[in-house]
Amino acid sequence: MLYAIYLRKSRADLEAEAMGQGETLARHRAALLDYAAHHGLEIGAVYEEIISGESIDARPKMKQLLREVEQGRWAGVLCMDIDRLARGNSADQARVSNTFRISGTLIITPSKVYDQSRESDEEYVDFELFMARREYKAISRRIMRGRIASVKEGHFIGSTPPYGYDKVKVEKGRGFTLLPNSESDTVKQIYSMCISGMGCNAIARRLDMMGVTPRKGSSWSSASIQDILKNPVYCGKIRWQYRKEEKSLTDGIVTTHRRENPDCIIAQGLHPALICEEEFDQAQQFLNSRRIPHKKESTELRNPLSGLVYCGMCGSMMTRLGTGSRNHSDTLRCPNRNCGNVSAKLELVESALVEGVARWLNDCRVNVSRKPAADTAKAERTAADKVRAELAKLDSQRERIYLFLEQGVYSAGEFRERMESLEKRRTQLSENLRQAEQAVSEAEGNRQLYAQIIPSVERVMDIYAQSTPEEKNRLLKTIISRAEYIKMERNTRGNADRCNFTLNVTPLFPETD
Ligand SMILES: [Zn+2]
Repeated sequence: MLYAIYLRKSRADLEAEAMGQGETLARHRAALLDYAAHHGLEIGAVYEEIISGESIDARPKMKQLLREVEQGRWAGVLCMDIDRLARGNSADQARVSNTFRISGTLIITPSKVYDQSRESDEEYVDFELFMARREYKAISRRIMRGRIASVKEGHFIGSTPPYGYDKVKVEKGRGFTLLPNSESDTVKQIYSMCISGMGCNAIARRLDMMGVTPRKGSSWSSASIQDILKNPVYCGKIRWQYRKEEKSLTDGIVTTHRRENPDCIIAQGLHPALICEEEFDQAQQFLNSRRIPHKKESTELRNPLSGLVYCGMCGSMMTRLGTGSRNHSDTLRCPNRNCGNVSAKLELVESALVEGVARWLNDCRVNVSRKPAADTAKAERTAADKVRAELAKLDSQRERIYLFLEQGVYSAGEFRERMESLEKRRTQLSENLRQAEQAVSEAEGNRQLYAQIIPSVERVMDIYAQSTPEEKNRLLKTIISRAEYIKMERNTRGNADRCNFTLNVTPLFPETD
């Protein structure tokens, strides 16, 4: 029976690499291959985790390996340390330890072979995994304490310095601080514009006009101006964990999201301030006074095309502009103020869209007048699966060719020859797969269209006219994936209802031919 190798970087490895040590996984791979050669173990596969997640679910290679161990595919798994297999939490560790024990698979490290059919080894595995977890938690807590202490001393510990500053090492000391750079004048201008009564949007537009560019992108957004105006780093403070990562558990899956943290740490920084504290407070007062309270009625959707129509010139999502002193009917416009796309009456675009759907429906009815054979899709799918299986086989062959080269079984010449013939076959198979998959999607598209789509679109068209904007939006989203809008010329006086725009509609379903 064959053995597998599992490679993964730990946090310590990442730190060592940052200090200039060489590539860890390459060293580990060589060490384990060497061990295998010395002990006469034949290696069947090498799993190299590229993602450095701690939990098993965040590590695709580990998941695959565990499945194979479960099936009894490997006599043993070689790894540098037992904690490379599982580290984060006890459920993961029990999973690893049980899977290896029940399948009778050995865990082999250069310092010890763990055979869990021996009772002493079973305890040993659990104990070592337990120690690894304790150590991991202790390290996490130590790192956290170190960070908090560093913030309270006024160091900057983030990875990207805020706009207006560079990140520099503290002179004759540990840690990092901030040094004003050429952007710092812009920060001062932003604050004085705000204090003089300009809103974030107006400030963004003014900076663009002045030819000042932000760090990323070509124009300023009002959100980035607001971020600058709300960040106390500019009056000499260090703020940490302003947006805190929170984990929640749904259906057994951990998701993380970031939200504003009211108890974030704010400490006196070591870096020079760009503005004084009074100015910072004035800016906060001004921002708070301009916050518009949410109106209750605004929660109801008033744009039936919301999220469906995109600007054909710049790709932005087109938005609705309500009636006001200057426009007398709802308008659909591109929100990008640097874009030249001309806006149009919302209802004109809406009826063009609905007409487009009706035309598409008609075409479908004509094209699908013959009933496609129901089992074509199934046959095509089987064919595609077969090609896919062959490709997988080829991939594992390739792994082994690499290994044989590393173990010195193949000479460089033999290796190249085998790889070439394998790659040729692979190219052919990939092309076969592409054709097979296309055949599947065509066959399925026809069948689905016939069975569901036409009646459901007909139903939508029937009830559309008497629906509310919100319902209309929901209905449209069941049949349209997106539409692109372009209009080059403004309407002249008295011709406001001319539909001189083009609208490219992409239905949600494949078209038939
Ligand atoms: Zn645009």
